[in-house]
Amino acid sequence: MLAPHAVRVEQSRGRRYPEPPHPYRNDYQRDRDRVIHARAFRRLEDKTQVFTGRFSDHFRNRLTHTLEVSQISRTIAGQLHLNTDLVEVLALVHDIGHPPFGHAGEHALDEAMRMQGLSFDHNLHALRIVEDFELRYAAFRGLNLTFEVREGIIKHSRDYDGSTHPELAEYLLGKLPPIEAQLIDLTDEVAYNTADLDDGHEAHILTVEQIRESVPVFDRYFREVQQLYPDAIEKLQFSEALRRVLNRFVTDLITNTGRRIAESGVQSLEDVRSYPERLAAFSPEVDEERRQAKQFLYRNLYYSEELVARKEHGEEVVLGLFAHWLAHPEDLPRTYQEKAEQEPLARVICDYIAGMTDHFILDQHKRFRG
Ligand code: MG
Repeated sequence: MLAPHAVRVEQSRGRRYPEPPHPYRNDYQRDRDRVIHARAFRRLEDKTQVFTGRFSDHFRNRLTHTLEVSQISRTIAGQLHLNTDLVEVLALVHDIGHPPFGHAGEHALDEAMRMQGLSFDHNLHALRIVEDFELRYAAFRGLNLTFEVREGIIKHSRDYDGSTHPELAEYLLGKLPPIEAQLIDLTDEVAYNTADLDDGHEAHILTVEQIRESVPVFDRYFREVQQLYPDAIEKLQFSEALRRVLNRFVTDLITNTGRRIAESGVQSLEDVRSYPERLAAFSPEVDEERRQAKQFLYRNLYYSEELVARKEHGEEVVLGLFAHWLAHPEDLPRTYQEKAEQEPLARVICDYIAGMTDHFILDQHKRFRG
């Protein structure tokens, strides 16, 4: 059933520490289970996706967002005859390196690190989590995931340059990742563009009129739904229109990626890796619709008055605690003080903060910064 250019688990480059095969789970299914059982995965439940704090019990957090990405990715990969097990692990692990407070937290952490001549990157942090920080096995540190999963963590959303990242040399930086990994960045966007319209509307920050005005694809479906269900309440018309948008994005990603694969003539995974550009892509038309939705969300939701205050508070908390521990490393937990004997203190503080949930970092802030 797998396409010739799909990843085959039997041909995996394997784990860093070889392990005997499991009697009934293949290596990618095992990796999926290792990710789900990881502490860092459970912490996603209390990390901001867009809305920080208890805005509503119904809004996405980073865990439920992750589950939506996994569901969408599996559907698309199945239709394209790609390796759905690998796609599932990559989707479940894709946000595991995110700090508290969403992009505000990521931005603040990077800013704090840059002042120390270092930087923070959530993909690289995710790799450190699965390679080093998760401690569950007596024989090795980390989760000992297969090569293709570690490669996908690094390469799903961007390309790293080997000259600035010599530590990543083993991940074939000069080559593209498999289509299974290429999909994740796009399915992530499909998931959050539609979910953020949904939550933003539910939060009464975005109105139906506003969305219809600036997101033409939504407007088209909304009109169709009004014709079909003229008597339905607006909330239901909204949800019917939005699911059609989601369906359009997903269907386009399947058909357009399928067409690009066919036209490229790739016959094997090696061909995909050596192809001059990523094969997973939206059609130009839907890509424009995706861009319009994203731009609308930036202007009207992510930088809305309601969210900016929380965002700024999140940044203050991260920067304040970072500065505090830099000046008072004796206030760090003992294990982190010991780590600081081997690594730069700023890196140790960054790792500590990046792992925190929203709730935990707010407690720490109360404790050390009053
Ligand atoms: Mg994501």
